[in-house]
Amino acid sequence: MGKSAVVGSVRALALRVLAPQAMKVVFLDIDGVLNSRAWFERHGPARGLGHLEPRACARVQRLCDETDAALVISSTWRVIHKRAAISEMFRARDLTTTILGMTAALHTARGYEIQAWLDASPAIAGLGAIEGMVILDDDADMVHLAPWHVMTDVEHGFTDRELVQAAEVLSRPMPASPREPAA
Ligand SMILES: [Mg+2]
Repeated sequence: MGKSAVVGSVRALALRVLAPQAMKVVFLDIDGVLNSRAWFERHGPARGLGHLEPRACARVQRLCDETDAALVISSTWRVIHKRAAISEMFRARDLTTTILGMTAALHTARGYEIQAWLDASPAIAGLGAIEGMVILDDDADMVHLAPWHVMTDVEHGFTDRELVQAAEVLSRPMPASPREPAA
């Protein structure tokens, strides 16, 4: 078992202790959600933490607090940064919601990567049934999961408008699963 798997197991165990009930999941893209063109115009090109706009981070935290949801990272940041580094940057922005994991990079539509995470989720120790989900992303490749997608605008990132939409989507029934990719 690799180090990240061990960390994942410890996290999952902590989750079982703290939240044994069914839960909701926010699949989180970062660029175009937690930052925006407007943000970069004001603050210039930055790296790491400089990519995280405090107000957008606060909205994601509020969404998770109000709906009792946890995060799964679906952004390409998962390929560039380790989960611990992402978690540390989020904490520096007061985004302290539990990060359950990251989707696998399958080099396919993001909707299929998210479906693969959902299909594998019953095997994640301590993770109860998933009773709601929403995908926050400024790209549209969600295939059959499009009804659970709240699309952000890269100009503004995650605003109050998308916060309201996301809370509504989280209250919907989960997609039927698993589903074959369309031919
Ligand atoms: Mg994006």
